[in-house]
Amino acid sequence: MSFDAESRMQFLFALRSQGVTDKRVLAAMEKIDRGKFVRGIFAERAYEDMPLPIACGQTISQPSVVGLMTQALEISPRDKVLEIGTGSGYQAAILSRLARRVYTVDRHRRLVAEARAVFEALELANVTAFTADGSHGLADQAPFDRILVTAAAEDPPGPLLAELRVGGIMVVPVGQSDAVQTLIKVTRHESGFDYEELRPVRFVPLLEGLSRD
Ligand code: SAH
Repeated sequence: MSFDAESRMQFLFALRSQGVTDKRVLAAMEKIDRGKFVRGIFAERAYEDMPLPIACGQTISQPSVVGLMTQALEISPRDKVLEIGTGSGYQAAILSRLARRVYTVDRHRRLVAEARAVFEALELANVTAFTADGSHGLADQAPFDRILVTAAAEDPPGPLLAELRVGGIMVVPVGQSDAVQTLIKVTRHESGFDYEELRPVRFVPLLEGLSRD
C-alpha cells in the first residue's frame, strides 16, 4: 500500500467527513505520508482512519483525531509549538508543516530515536524530538504559542499551563486513563485561562518519569 493518488483521496475524504475542514490542516495531512510512521503488519492499514499499535505498547492516533486536534490549535506560521507524546512522530510532522518550530518529547527513548529518523528522512528541519517527561514542560524552550498533549492527564498539567504564552492555546485530553476522556481546549488570557470541551476521545495515559526503553 502506498500513499498514491487514490489512497490520498480516500484519506482526505475520511478526514473531511469527520469534521476536519481547515484547508491548511488538510494540505499538511495530504503531504505527510502516514505510512512512514507505521511499521510491520499494520503498515498496510496506515491510510485507514483508525489508531494503530506502534513500538513500546503505544499507539499512533486516529488521523481524524490528529486533524481535529491540529485544527483546534489554530496554528499560525510564526508559532512555536510543543507536543507532549511524540509516539510515532506523525502528529509532530503535521505540526511541522504548519508552525515555525516544533519541539516534541516522549518518555520512551526508542520512540524518540525512531521518530527522529523519520523526520530526517522527510527533511523536516524545524522539528526537534527529546526524550523527557513532558508533564514537567520544556523550560529551556518556553514559552510556547501552542501546546498539544497527546496522552491523557487527569487535569491540564500545571507546568504546561505555565509555559503557555498569553494568547496561546493548549489542547489536551483530560480524564481517567481507562475511561473515555474529554478533549479540552485551553486559551490563556491576560487574566487567566478559558476552558472549552471539544469532544470525547481515548488516549494512552500521561505517565510520570522516563521509561527504560
Ligand atoms: N502523537 C503520537 C501519539 C502519541 S501516543 C503520534 O502522532 O504518533 C502517546 C505518547 O505519549 C506515547 O508515546 C507515550 O510514551 C507518551 N507519553 C506518556 N506520558 C508521557 C510523559 N509524561 N512525557 C512524555 N511523553 C509521554
